[in-house]
Amino acid sequence: MAARGGGAPCGACKFLGRKCVEGCVFAPYFQTEELGAAHFAAIHKIFGTSNFSKLLHSIPSDQERFDAVVSISYEAQARLQDPVYGCVSHISALQQQVAHLQGELAFIRGRMTTFCFPPMKRVHLSPSTRTTTITIPSFQPSK
Ligand SMILES: [Zn+2]
Repeated sequence: MAARGGGAPCGACKFLGRKCVEGCVFAPYFQTEELGAAHFAAIHKIFGTSNFSKLLHSIPSDQERFDAVVSISYEAQARLQDPVYGCVSHISALQQQVAHLQGELAFIRGRMTTFCFPPMKRVHLSPSTRTTTITIPSFQPSK
């Protein structure tokens, strides 16, 4: 954890206008004053500093806490841009893009099959050969 005290405050403490003390819960995630303050401002506005602090304390793993900060910061930024849907609008747009691209891929695969393989010859069966018996060999394990 970053030791503060005497140095520049973390972005969160700068935004909150308070002294950044050693062991500040926000310091590891909002180290740069400018960018950290901007990200923290969005989180503060959307979720509230107290709720965010409680959430960080409830996550035991440092890596998971970092992932949570990234996720919450992303959601807060998205909520500021789109107060109704937040990041769900991004997810929905990406899902539509995936569906569109899957359709294009299926179309292109179909076209490739048409162009890459010669058309199959039509087999005209005489009336006597319309009934066909197919014999499937039984599986014999090798010895
Ligand atoms: Zn701080």
